Amino acid sequence: MKTVCFRCGEIFSIGEQCEKCGWQICPHCGACLCSLSPREQFVAIAVWLSTTSIFVETPTKETWNKWYNKLKELKQTLEAK
Ligand SMILES: [Zn+2]
Ligand SMILES: [Zn+2]
Repeated sequence: MKTVCFRCGEIFSIGEQCEKCGWQICPHCGACLCSLSPREQFVAIAVWLSTTSIFVETPTKETWNKWYNKLKELKQTLEAK
């Protein structure tokens, strides 16, 4: 499965994941969700959820749901401010 880095825009295969945020780490620039603010994390996750289906291998429903729940969580955080 491949994705596009939200920071440097390079396409990479999903492999290594960050222990803290669970996001895939970009092998080109080392970016993961930890370097983003809640608002930026929200955008990164929303974009990922809406674009993964264009790749040949779609994520499992569990993975998709995991990030969808995280998105909802962030929405609450953002709206609480
Ligand atoms: Zn990158
Ligand atoms: Zn991280």
